Amino acid sequence: MLKEHPGWIVLKKLRGMCALYELEGRKVTITLDPRKDIVPSLIHESLHHWYPDWPESKVEKHERLIMNSLTSSQTKHILILLADVLNKKIYYRKTMKNKKS
Ligand SMILES: [Zn+2]
Repeated sequence: MLKEHPGWIVLKKLRGMCALYELEGRKVTITLDPRKDIVPSLIHESLHHWYPDWPESKVEKHERLIMNSLTSSQTKHILILLADVLNKKIYYRKTMKNKKS
């Protein structure tokens, strides 16, 4: 997911939810609230992406199953990939700003 759609992870404070999955045409945006559980939220929203027909209860169940089965090093790998994606996003934005001036 992170490799598939690297630019579409957004960190933003959300009201009344931990995360948000949005699909507009082919564009996917996953918004994660930095005050909440980022890894379970990312897995949850990725499941919505991969299995759009699943009801919320099935997504929640599989989110728990995945979170309970992840090893510390697998979780670390997810966090490293997420940080890498966010880092590239910041870098890309700076580069775009530099090109305009
Ligand atoms: Zn959900």
